[in-house]
Amino acid sequence: MSPFAAIEVGGTKINVAIGSAPDDLTIVRIPTRAPEETWPEVMHALTDLGKTRPFSAIGIASFGPIDLNPDSATYGHFRKTPKPGWTGFDLITPLTAAYPDLPIGLDTDVNGAALGERRWGGAKDLDTFVYVTVGTGLGVGLVVGEEPVHGLLHPEAGHIRVRRHPQDTYSGHCPFHGDCCEGLSCGPAIEARTGQKAETLPPDHPNWAIVGDYLGQLFCNLTLITSAQRILVGGGVGLNDAVLRGARQTCHALLGGYIEALETNDKFETYIQAAHLGDRAGVLGALELARRALSLESENSVQHRCSK
Ligand code: ADP
Ligand code: ZN
Repeated sequence: MSPFAAIEVGGTKINVAIGSAPDDLTIVRIPTRAPEETWPEVMHALTDLGKTRPFSAIGIASFGPIDLNPDSATYGHFRKTPKPGWTGFDLITPLTAAYPDLPIGLDTDVNGAALGERRWGGAKDLDTFVYVTVGTGLGVGLVVGEEPVHGLLHPEAGHIRVRRHPQDTYSGHCPFHGDCCEGLSCGPAIEARTGQKAETLPPDHPNWAIVGDYLGQLFCNLTLITSAQRILVGGGVGLNDAVLRGARQTCHALLGGYIEALETNDKFETYIQAAHLGDRAGVLGALELARRALSLESENSVQHRCSK
């Protein structure tokens, strides 16, 4: 089987890769600037990688919000995003024009990462689980019955409202909601609250109890709504041990023993885990989206032949 091409579109960088698995992956990293400047570079990197190893499908895992409805006239276009220049940008047409014969899979970075974790990481054999990234923003990918959830757009659970921590006076960072969960927990919010970059704060800094509490509220709600079998957490902030400790405690306390499978404290070590694929979850997720696009196309062509 020939390898796949994978594009992870992030707020600060874009990873363009070719390969077939975690131990077979060549990645080219491109800094994210205005799309008119950045996307031609992405296309160029893809062409160059394709010269070394021809690929059979393309997977894209992108930051959102982005239109994921294949029947929509604006499929693959970014929706209203605070990221300067990206609102309305169409990332799919240049790809379909350059590779008209290849299947192309598109999903959010977090749905992609969730599928990557299912194939190679911390969600193997699970059918319903959540992947949460806490970094520059807060994204939630939700897989239910083995399929990523889309619906109206795609889940935006990072923007749920949370109860304020009594020691937190910070007003919040979200341009739409101010003090939603993302607005109080993401890296830029931590920097604004403490005056220091999140990665420089010591593990006993009071900020971690505050952010852990907000994430614990999010995880509790995700558990109650989705009945997830596991919550995997990635991103610069989410992979910080101090955050996960607090989040497990709050989630346990808020569930109050109501969910039988999660009655005791020790269950939360496995229930809420750091993402296994670390900072490669997104690009490996894009690779998995490519594989799924190809297998869907093969299934469709078999059905088409059988129905003739
Ligand atoms: P992105 O969200 O752009 O994909 P990251 O997931 O790396 O990238 O998130 C970047 C954010 O994470 C920044 O706000 C940074 O301050 C914060 N961050 C990076 N490393 C750490 C760390 N070790 N602990 C806590 N926060 C961190
Ligand atoms: Zn918000």
